[in-house]
Amino acid sequence: MKANPNLAVLRVLARQGYGADIVSGGEMARALAAGMAPDSIVFSGVGKTPAELAQGIDAGIGQFNLEHEEEGHVLSAIAQAQGQRVSATLRVNPDVDAGTHEKISTGKADNKFGVPIGQAPEMYARLAALPGLQMRGVACHIGSQLSTVAPLEAAYKRIGQLIADLRGGGLSVDRADLGGGLGVRYRPEEVVPWPTDLGEMVARVTKGWDVELMFEPGRVIAGNAGVLLTQVIWVKPGITHPYVIVDAAMNDLARPALYGAYHHFEAVQPSGETMTAHIAGPVCETGDTFAMGREIDRVEAGDLAIFRTAGAYGATMASTYNSRALVPEVMVDGDRFAVVADRISAEMIMHAERVPDWLKD
Ligand SMILES: *Cc1c(COP(=O)(O)O)cnc(C)c1O
Repeated sequence: MKANPNLAVLRVLARQGYGADIVSGGEMARALAAGMAPDSIVFSGVGKTPAELAQGIDAGIGQFNLEHEEEGHVLSAIAQAQGQRVSATLRVNPDVDAGTHEKISTGKADNKFGVPIGQAPEMYARLAALPGLQMRGVACHIGSQLSTVAPLEAAYKRIGQLIADLRGGGLSVDRADLGGGLGVRYRPEEVVPWPTDLGEMVARVTKGWDVELMFEPGRVIAGNAGVLLTQVIWVKPGITHPYVIVDAAMNDLARPALYGAYHHFEAVQPSGETMTAHIAGPVCETGDTFAMGREIDRVEAGDLAIFRTAGAYGATMASTYNSRALVPEVMVDGDRFAVVADRISAEMIMHAERVPDWLKD
């Protein structure tokens, strides 16, 4: 859900039978609005509020992934007060290094997500005894943009051992939520694992687990299904290379500024010539730079170009910084297309702001 929460995109997935992994009441509203069955929705997230937990119970959410023990006690109490018993898993932190960018790595021991795997058996036993919970199993998600399945394999082996330990202690386990994290190709020369590589490894490692397996892929579904279309405003001379100033910026696609991420840049109608340039947006921040000294298609003011792999963690991370509009989103299906999110202008955002009485004269 967090990779691309556009309603039309969710609708495509809902029609194919996908559920969703959500982390907020807002994401829950979107999943339900897109037609996803409540029992196919998993509520994850390290900061679910008691109000959101109650909302999730009311909506009939299929599974709550608990991030720590106290959350389970609160969830149980709310469920019990409503005369219900809800399905839950315990998110464990398998303490493997995902080998990815530190800001999108979630599976090392001293991380805010999940509980240390060594403490999981005792916690699980206490949670399983609570009247409002039905503990179904364990969950993990070790990070994003993984470039090999090796860290996932290491994590899943630990999960397999944990499931055996839990059962050895007389506890029931019938689900294992194995998270997401599969990387996608941002650079043309990049080699990333395919979903079939993950499938082969999972089939091998989880043999005999006797559980329902669940997956939470995000980036791999949406990443390369989307591009950010932009127009070159100026080509400005620079000291080392010219600056290609485009009308897209860090508020539209935050990943380069946030993680130093690479997004491939191509002219919509390439001339065949290339140039070495810096690519930057109009926002008044040095961080609003998409590339430095990169060899790209030769472009001029007025040319259209795209940043590739913008379908995941693109529009969903957009802001209106510098009072820039939110870009519209367009879905393309074969030879048809539709605007699936309107441009949200600075004027529309101003409508939601108020000047207090004492300033009105
Ligand atoms: C972000 C996230 C995912 C999806 O990660 P991808 O790398 O996009 O596949 C899955 N599960 C949880 C709990 C997440 O936070």
